[in-house]
Amino acid sequence: MEVTSISGTPSKDLEHLAITEKKCSSGKQRLNFIESLNYYVSEIVATTTLLKRTVGNQFAAVKEFASPSKPDLDQDRADIVKQKRNDQGCHECEVLDSRSEAAESVYQWSACTKNHGHHKFIPVQEFCLDHLPKWCQRKFVFDMVRIMLVLTVRLRVTYTSWERPKGYSFYNHRGSDVLHTGTGFVLAVVEGKGPCQCRSCTDSSSPHQKWYQILVHSACHVVFNTEEAQHTKVDFFYDDKTSRLTSLWVTQAIATDPLADTCTLLCATHEEALAEKLYACVRKIENHSQDIKMDRLSKDLWRLCVVVSHPHGQPKYVTVGRGLKKEAQSYVYITDTCPGSSGAPVLVFIPDDDQLKMSDTGDLSFVAPHSEWLPDEELNQSGWARCFNSPFVKYLEYQNMLRDGASFDTAWKQLFASSIKFPE
Ligand SMILES: [Zn+2]
Ligand SMILES: [Zn+2]
Repeated sequence: MEVTSISGTPSKDLEHLAITEKKCSSGKQRLNFIESLNYYVSEIVATTTLLKRTVGNQFAAVKEFASPSKPDLDQDRADIVKQKRNDQGCHECEVLDSRSEAAESVYQWSACTKNHGHHKFIPVQEFCLDHLPKWCQRKFVFDMVRIMLVLTVRLRVTYTSWERPKGYSFYNHRGSDVLHTGTGFVLAVVEGKGPCQCRSCTDSSSPHQKWYQILVHSACHVVFNTEEAQHTKVDFFYDDKTSRLTSLWVTQAIATDPLADTCTLLCATHEEALAEKLYACVRKIENHSQDIKMDRLSKDLWRLCVVVSHPHGQPKYVTVGRGLKKEAQSYVYITDTCPGSSGAPVLVFIPDDDQLKMSDTGDLSFVAPHSEWLPDEELNQSGWARCFNSPFVKYLEYQNMLRDGASFDTAWKQLFASSIKFPE
């Protein structure tokens, strides 16, 4: 007849109470019941308090994780960071104070107003075929995106050049050491000639002789010239918070084009495993290009636009959207991007044969660096597209074969003088 504890299931407890009450045939039993009921209620109160405290703690932990407190920068520095962030027009670099970079990056991610909650940003580890629209769930499309996930890199630039022209992004912050981040992608891996040009080898009396040049493509407003390039670090494989990064300093900007909003950077490494892993991916992209060429007749495929980027300097995320059109040599698309996405690879598949142009060498130029967000139309625009396995890369190889230490700047200019014939 006693009610001594709660079962944890309200309906069961109420049923039990009703039965107990019915069983009270005398005044004494009724008093006992009321006493038991008081005990029962006090237990509910105690349990609820405990539950509240536990849930409260959990909630506070979740809240702390979801909205980290703003890093404690000194006010002047914080103002400069904010001013630099706003001094880039519609471009999408993230700007952070290098003294508390990681904490600020997390804060900017959580405080983002452009894509609050980042619901459409898929962590690269979770990306699967179902994330593609039904009509383009094709294996080679999926594989192509997955390869791009490996080739995508984060760029951290710790110097803003005095050569940035008036009206150009970050003009008012020339000479500044305030960090800006962007995204880029590996375009090619070419064997180097002579001694290795990586930082540790150039400081060493016995530099490695076998080494590789890694060409990284991004947007010109992210890395404007060689001066900035030499203050730029490339982070490979930053897939999630636990990833083991491989970082390389850029040695030079071999080509920058403000009009096309593109830049091609050169990193040097004698790490064979790194070079091999990236080279294998570049080769796979080339092979997939063949598949895509074979598949040109299935027009319904070509409406997809995928961006892989490091929003707010955070690990890699994939966003899936739509390609709209090609304008001159850049693409227009609706796919979510955030500050930090500048220079990110934009994979665009567009249904018009004229727009899906093949270059003279048979390459498809469907990867371009993300350039800017056009807020009035809520559209994105890329810089000019460049090819994998491009003539530029072939020319680099050719240069390597014939003339050690040739000027890449000259190579680039000659290449686009359009009269160059490549060796068979
Ligand atoms: Zn965001
Ligand atoms: Zn080296």
